[in-house]
Amino acid sequence: MLRLPRFRYMAPTQISEAARILASEGADAMLLAGGTDLFPNMKRRQQTPATVVALRDVERMREIGSGHCLTIGAGITLTEIVQSDLIRSRHAGLWQAAAQVASPQLRNMATVGGNLCLDTRCNYYDQTLEWRKAIDFCMKKDGEVCWVAPGSPKCLAVSSTDTAPALVSLRAKVKLTAADGDRMIRLEDLYANDGIHYLTKDHGEILTLVELDQVDDWKSTYWKLRRRGSIDFPVLGVAASAKFADDGTVENCRVVLGAVSSAPIRALKADAALIGNRLSDDVIAQAAEAGSKVAKPMDNTDFTLHWRKKVAARFVTYALRELRGDDMREMRSRVARHDLEAVGV
Ligand SMILES: Cc1cc2nc3c(=O)[nH]c(=O)nc-3n(C[C@H](O)[C@H](O)[C@H](O)COP(=O)(O)OP(=O)(O)OC[C@H]3O[C@@H](n4cnc5c(N)ncnc54)[C@H](O)[C@@H]3O)c2cc1C
Ligand code: SF4
Repeated sequence: MLRLPRFRYMAPTQISEAARILASEGADAMLLAGGTDLFPNMKRRQQTPATVVALRDVERMREIGSGHCLTIGAGITLTEIVQSDLIRSRHAGLWQAAAQVASPQLRNMATVGGNLCLDTRCNYYDQTLEWRKAIDFCMKKDGEVCWVAPGSPKCLAVSSTDTAPALVSLRAKVKLTAADGDRMIRLEDLYANDGIHYLTKDHGEILTLVELDQVDDWKSTYWKLRRRGSIDFPVLGVAASAKFADDGTVENCRVVLGAVSSAPIRALKADAALIGNRLSDDVIAQAAEAGSKVAKPMDNTDFTLHWRKKVAARFVTYALRELRGDDMREMRSRVARHDLEAVGV
């Protein structure tokens, strides 16, 4: 059995107190939300904070507010997101992403803040201490070389959060709170395409709030590929959102791919192929081809990388067809059952 290392547990009740502890403890402290990522990482000695600053007693991070904007406290659990009728009806892409994270038990504990700050993943890193020691570690933790691409100057571990691509597609902003104040940034600016330094925020900043525009004229969706429909991390996530004119022309849109890089990646050429056009089969095919170009999977997660690259165009197609209004329920259930022949590659 893997055991947790010793650590000091602190449970502030105010955001300001949590920020102050984080500032004074520096890199020796880590934030804890639901613990569904941090505790397994600590058991594998990938992360070994001397102090754990738990956020679960901070009530202000556990509120959903709806006015001009929809605000979601970072401590809201994924189950609470799935239970929200408002989120389901207005921000379907986020609802679908949250509903497909892990399993019901994990979603009951897991928070949106923890999901957005999730550590990047790699087959050579998500192993026990003894396993990693046996291959002489890698540059993400305790080593010098990348075992996936030994010539690579940077770590290529994969961003495996489901809600991040969905929320980037929905143009979300996030509030970061530190001991010396707050700032709002676009969620897409929180991420860097680097498996080690995958977040751009300072260590002392706490993600406290997610903010979404309350718009009725946008539609959104999220499609996820994973081995087992009941629990696994994504090996591909496709989030798409669009605003349509009355005649069905796409006025604005955002296609974002997850789990193909160390950050969620916007498919700007797919957006360009869609804007100003109706979602005909030809336009969807062009956008899917352009969208799949940003998928640069490495051989460090599940399935073969060539197949994962190939299937990206299919998943962009499914997402766009769903935005168009096609009934995709049968395909969704086939994907969930891992009926790969039906997936179409
Ligand atoms: C078996 C299994 C399957 C999983 N499947 C999926 C999946 O399909 N999709 C998916 O997206 N994830 C998956 N996960 C990962 C994880 O469960 C979720 O990402 C979850 O949402 C993490 O949230 P948490 O609150 O538990 O985060 P924690 O584990 O508490 O924290 C995760 C990280 O975020 C940091 N953090 C937490 N809150 C904040 C904050 N407010 N501000 C700044 N930093 C913060 C922590 O310091 C830590 O580094 C899976 C995990 C397991 C064990
Ligand atoms: S991508 Fe390379 S450096 Fe990064 S975790 Fe994997 S093996 Fe380690």
